[in-house]
Formats: sequence, C-alpha cells, structure tokens
Amino acid sequence: MPLPAASFEFATAARIRFGAGTRQELPIAAVSMGRRALVVTGSAANRAAELTGALADAGMEIEPLVVDAEPTVAMIREGASKARQANCDLVIAIGGGSVLDAGKALAALLAHVGDPLDYLEIIGRGQPLTKPSLPLIAAPTTAGTGSEVTRNAVLASPEHQVKASLRSATMLPRLAIVDSELTLSLPRSLTASTGLDALTQLIEPYVSARANPMTDMFCIDGIERGARALPRAFRDGDDLEARTEMSWVSLLGGLALANAGLGAVHGFAAPLGGMFPIPHGAACAAVLPYAMDVNVRALRRRAPDGEALGRYGHIARILTGDGNATAEDGVEWVAQLCATLEVPPLRVYGVTAAAIPALVERAARSGSMKGNPIALEAAEMEEIVARAV
Ligand SMILES: [Zn+2]
Repeated sequence: MPLPAASFEFATAARIRFGAGTRQELPIAAVSMGRRALVVTGSAANRAAELTGALADAGMEIEPLVVDAEPTVAMIREGASKARQANCDLVIAIGGGSVLDAGKALAALLAHVGDPLDYLEIIGRGQPLTKPSLPLIAAPTTAGTGSEVTRNAVLASPEHQVKASLRSATMLPRLAIVDSELTLSLPRSLTASTGLDALTQLIEPYVSARANPMTDMFCIDGIERGARALPRAFRDGDDLEARTEMSWVSLLGGLALANAGLGAVHGFAAPLGGMFPIPHGAACAAVLPYAMDVNVRALRRRAPDGEALGRYGHIARILTGDGNATAEDGVEWVAQLCATLEVPPLRVYGVTAAAIPALVERAARSGSMKGNPIALEAAEMEEIVARAV
C-alpha cells in the first residue's frame, strides 16, 4: 500500500531499557534522579522485593506504597498525602498496569496542588496538568498494558461506577525498564488476559482511524510476535524467550495506542471495569473476538472497499500465516486463541444481560470508541457485549 503523507508527534517514555536482566540498572538510575523514592508495588510484592532491596543498598531512602487493586481516586489521594509527608522526590512503580498507572498518577499529582478530582477527566474538573511530573521510573511485571510508555493513568471511582483518566504528556515516565524476567512468575490466567490485552492494543491501533505509518510498523511486528509467543508463554511460564517476546509485544502496544488510539474493545472495557469487578485485561480478552467479528461484518456491509477491511485482512494473514486468509479467518483465529487460553466469559465476573443497555450507552460515549474503524449501530454494540457475557 502506498505511503500516505503523515504528520504526528511521537509520544513515549524519555528512555526505554528493554531486555531480560535490565532491572539491574534500576538502582543507579534511581540514585541519579532523586534521594527519597515512593516505591509503588502490587500485592505480589515478592517480585519487587529484590529491587526494593537493591534500591536500599544503593543508598536510596524508600517510602513503600502497596497498590493491590486497580487504583481508585481515594487510593491515589491517600498515597499522595503519604508521599508528601515523606518528602519523596522520585516515584518508582514496579508492578502490573494498576501499579504503573498509580505511579504515573502520583508522580503527576505530587507536582501539583489539589485533589485528583481537580485533574481527572469525565468525573472530575479536568484541569490540565501543567507542571512536569516528579521523575518516574516504571518497571512492568506483566506483559500487557504498555502503561510504561503511555501518557495517561486510569483511575476508578466506585461511587460513579466509571473509570476515568488523568492525561498529560508530562505523565510519560523518565525511564521505562522492561525486563521480561520480572514476568516469569505471572500465573497462567494473568498471562492469558494481559497478553490478550497487549494483542488488542496492537489490533485496535492498526485498524484505527488515527493509525500512522510508524504505529503500523509496531503493530505488524507486535501482532506477528504475539501470535506465536502468547500460546507458548501460556503453556510454559518459564519460557524466557516467549516471555521476552511478550514484553516486547506489550511495549509496542503501549507505543501504538498512545499514538494511534484504540477501538470498540477498549470502548467496552472502560464501563465493564467501572460497573463490575473485572480486571482490564480480562474485559478486553472476553470482548475481543466478538468486537472483531462485528466490526468486520459492519465493514463488509457499509465500507466494503475501505482501507479498514483491508487492514483486517492483513492482520488475518499475519495471525494465520496463510497468504490467502480473509478478515473473517483472522476473527476465527482470535476466537480459537481465546478458547485455547481459557478466557472466561463476562458472566463469571457478574455481568448479566440486564447490564447490556447501560454498557452500550457508556461504551458509545467512551473516548476509545472514537478510534473504531466504523461507527457501530446500537444493535451491533449490543451484539458484541451480549455474546461476550
Ligand atoms: Zn488495554
């Protein structure tokens, strides 16, 4: 396909260190950025304990903060108050997407006065974050969100039953350390759901209305590697080569979504996570095959000669390895992958048919839906979520 004219700014972390073992550079980098670090970790903190110990050995003062669920406004408010009292001048986040998002939100808020709600979009006052964030080092321990290179942090507000973002170019980490060895202990179900989130974050930007030639490169490389590596990492969690591939896939997904947007899967993931106790990756994994199927059928009917359908065909040929594969073959391949990875349906998380109208209404208004390659009709949106339940 001919190269289109393109104009874009490329958003990413200031510096990325990628590869097995790169976490060993964390203490030296941290000491060069600050003196007293707020160290944000998840509930499986044993993965982070080695790093926290190394930070202390390097002379860093440490204020620990455990984020054991997807971050809420209240959690961030408390964390910021704790970090202010401790005079932290650096934030280090070691964990999955929730921990990284909490770290990004805290690094941003600590540079500002006021409450998270002053700056949160949708449910807050949405004031711009104008000052540079505190220096932030992000080290993912899952291969899924790519949050280490994106410029927003998703916070939940249980009383509003929604998720909303703090968003600013200043939220990009100073350093992202993507060390696949940190993902070795990830349980099978998390390997599946986070890995499928990563794959979604490459498929949706590739067919997005905002795709550009640079994100296309990332998506094509990431989809190809993810298609091969994810089943391997699921079968054998100690397969470091597959884990390293998946860390790369996740990183590419973050770069792609930060620069090209997302689509219907993430349009539904936001209200699903707001209304039900369903982790982001699990929501994406459950919705992905049905959103692809409905999108491809809608494109066949209403935009059969458009570029998006051609892109779904390209994805299908990458996924299947078959040069004659159609867009529909790609949908079938993804459905098979989700079955192989034992992705549970949404009803496992308490989603019922009664919630469908509210989910459709909220998904239609979500920012991610704007990137979907075709405007979906209400009946099509209902079909996606009904089949995923
Ligand atoms: Zn996602």
